[in-house]
Amino acid sequence: MVVEILKNSGYCYGVKNAIEIAFKARKENPNQKIYVLGMLVHNEEIIKKLELENIITINVPYNEYEKEIQKINKNDILIFPAHGHDIKLEKITKARQIKVVDAICPMVKRCQDLIIEALNKKKKVIYIGIKNHAETLLALSLSKDIIFVDYNQPINYYFNTKYDYYCINQTTLSYIQLDSLHNQLKKIIPHLEIANEICNFTKIRQKSLLNLPNDVDGIIVCGSLKSSNTTRLFELAKKRYSNCYVSFVSNTDEIDLLKIKSLQHIIVLGGTSTSMEQLEELKEYLLKLNN
Ligand code: SF4
Repeated sequence: MVVEILKNSGYCYGVKNAIEIAFKARKENPNQKIYVLGMLVHNEEIIKKLELENIITINVPYNEYEKEIQKINKNDILIFPAHGHDIKLEKITKARQIKVVDAICPMVKRCQDLIIEALNKKKKVIYIGIKNHAETLLALSLSKDIIFVDYNQPINYYFNTKYDYYCINQTTLSYIQLDSLHNQLKKIIPHLEIANEICNFTKIRQKSLLNLPNDVDGIIVCGSLKSSNTTRLFELAKKRYSNCYVSFVSNTDEIDLLKIKSLQHIIVLGGTSTSMEQLEELKEYLLKLNN
């Protein structure tokens, strides 16, 4: 059995950056209480490592964030995660004199800035994203006038073509599916302005996945179910390699041992919040099964 890790795997810049920011906050503030508003990045292992540093993840539904922030004391530290935050929450943190550390990925921030710029120019903003994903919720929180196009649903919205429309998207979608949605929208709104904001880390990995050797008969996608780009990689693998065994696991306990033993050439991969260490561990585990 041959087991390989997909080219261009491991953490992306935004994930590394957020982790570094959180650990630096602890180093510089050894005695203060530090919280993260939701998952810092979509990787449960990282959340456990943060806990060991006494950095507490506020793990509640999005609509309870405001209530939770009210419980944080003056001078405690609140870290905003890599996928952004509702800007309305900044007012509350300021009023309560909570020290804020922002770990937003610069690419997600750029996307939010572009939305604000388009809104300021009185354009009708169309946002394509995964329903209820953190990045989508936060983008939509910028204005109630943003038109949401659900990535997983047929486009079902009346567009009045007398307006200037500006289309932007969640950073971690499939670039192929996004192209298709753009084409559909352009048929309805020929003058549509498109900002294609798929993050390059995501796109490069999707392209690597689409170019696997012909003899590959197994693909294992490893990561958190909450990770959008990991889920997109899984969907892409299922669609492109319908003759292969394709599985999504969060850890080695979820591996189907019987199935794996019948395979000859396996590719393991993960989204941008899955570390190289996790993939190496998975690879070693699979190779040992063969001995
Ligand atoms: S996948 Fe891209 S947008 Fe998302 S955190 Fe990583 S670098 Fe940022």
